[in-house]
This record gives sequence, C-alpha cells and structure tokens, in this order.
Amino acid sequence: MDKQRTVIVTGAAGGLGKAIAKEFIKQNDFVYVTDLNKGAAEETALSLGENAKGIYLDVTDEAVIQSTIADILKERGSIEVLVNNAGIQYRSPLESFPLEKWNLLIDVMLTGVFLMTKHVFPHMKKEEYGRIVNISSVHGKMATPEKVAYVAAKHGVIGVTSVTALEGAPYKITANSILPGPVKTELLVKQLDSLTDKGMTDKEALEAILYPRQAMNRFIEPEEVASGVVYLASDAAGGITGEHIKVAGGM
Ligand code: NAD
Repeated sequence: MDKQRTVIVTGAAGGLGKAIAKEFIKQNDFVYVTDLNKGAAEETALSLGENAKGIYLDVTDEAVIQSTIADILKERGSIEVLVNNAGIQYRSPLESFPLEKWNLLIDVMLTGVFLMTKHVFPHMKKEEYGRIVNISSVHGKMATPEKVAYVAAKHGVIGVTSVTALEGAPYKITANSILPGPVKTELLVKQLDSLTDKGMTDKEALEAILYPRQAMNRFIEPEEVASGVVYLASDAAGGITGEHIKVAGGM
C-alpha cells in the first residue's frame, strides 16, 4: 500500500505490544498504542516517536471501543491493521478457580478480540483492505494445568481468527494468529513469582514454564514475535489467511 497505514495495537504498553508497535513504526506505519493503562500507553508512544499515539482503550468495553474507533477514523480516515494483543494471566487449580477471574480472562482475551474485530471490520470492508493479527499463545493449541481460563480464551482466539479469515476473504481482509511461546514480559514474570511463592525454587519455576516442551530451551524475544506479526500484516503476506503460526522455539 502506498499511503501510510494506520495500525491499532491493543495492550501495547506491555512487553510484546510495545515491541510490535516499534516494529510497525520501522515500516513507516502510524501506530495507535492503546492500553488499559493510559499513562503507560502515552509514555510508550512518546518513546516511539511522532508516528505513535498513546491512548486509553479497554478492550472489554464496547462503548469505549466504538468511540475510540470513531475518533481514529476522524483523525486518520482509515484503519488498515488491527493487532489484538491485550492479555492477562491467572493461575489456580480448576476446582478453586474463581468465576470472576474466569470472566475477566475470557472478557479481555476472547471477547476483547471479538469486539475489536467486530467494530474495525466494517471500515476495512469498505476500504477492501485489512490485516488482522491476533495474539493467541502456544496455549491456543495445548494445555497447562491451572490455566483453565487462559487456555480456553487462547483456543477461542484461534476460532475467532478462522471465522474472521472466512468472512474477510471476499473483501481482501486477512486474519491470522500468532502463537508465542514464553516471552519474558511482565505477564510471565508474574507467573514465575506465583510459582516461587508456592514454594518452587527459581530453577523449578523456570523449568515448569519453559523447558519440558521447548526444543530451543530459551525464552522467545519480543522482537521475534513482533517480526512475525508485521510480516503477516504486510502486503507481501496478502495470500496468507486463517493461519495460526507458532513463534515458540520448537514447542
Ligand atoms: P504484558 O502483561 O506485558 O502486557 C499486557 C498488556 O495488556 C498490559 O499493558 C495491560 O495493561 C494490557 N491490558 C490488560 N487488560 C486490558 C484491557 N482490558 N484492555 C486493554 N489492555 C489491557 O503481557 P505480554 O506478555 O506483553 O502479553 C501480550 C499478549 O501476548 C497477551 O495476549 C498474552 O497472552 C500473549 N502471550 C504472551 C506470552 C508470554 O510469554 N509473555 C506467551 C504467549 C502469549
């Protein structure tokens, strides 16, 4: 595409989101760095330069999503790329998993992806151009004990992506998901802490998360995920849709 594209990244004040935003800016796109944490979104955008703008966006709030998309369209005229990245984690055995935590994780990581896609879709259809990349997880295709809501949400993201790909195809909109392996962001550090709080040593906690199933035996770098996202959102990847691609070091 010749003109500068407009990109929305959700949860972009976090570890992966920031790396994704940075990678799009390298491609000369304009990025809305959106997050529940407004201050952090603004700070992140500031660090990324004049082609980034930090704004508050709670992906669970349909009214906020609608008004934010309307504002972005007023400012930029079109939205070419949506990256659904916002996420949270909570661990607990199934029988004591609190309903409110289940609801929260599903709201942020599954309903949030649905709502953002639902409201960006009509504008992409009108333009007959769109790139949607959803951040699932290796947990979109496998399971770990004590992560029932996370695993369910991330499996769900794959389903939402597949339907989006089918409905988007006639309008030249592609939808794909990326399934990252363990990346050492705030989200993962909190998990390591929760395991050491339960009495595991640092080494045991690390092994519980990383080693048993991963060929490369290392963390994935945020930039390694970001470059996959930017590729799937590129014009060059216009023939790729409905795919679910692991960036997980051979997990
Ligand atoms: P992170 O905690 O560093 O960042 C997540 C961001 O999402 C935070 O800035 C947070 O404020 C934001 N957020 C939370 N609730 C929100 C809401 N309702 N609306 C908008 N923003 C909200 O985590 P991360 O590791 O950068 O995770 C990004 C994505 O990558 C998540 O979807 C996560 O599930 C996925 N992922 C991460 C890993 C990993 O190992 N870190 C692995 C696989 C998948």
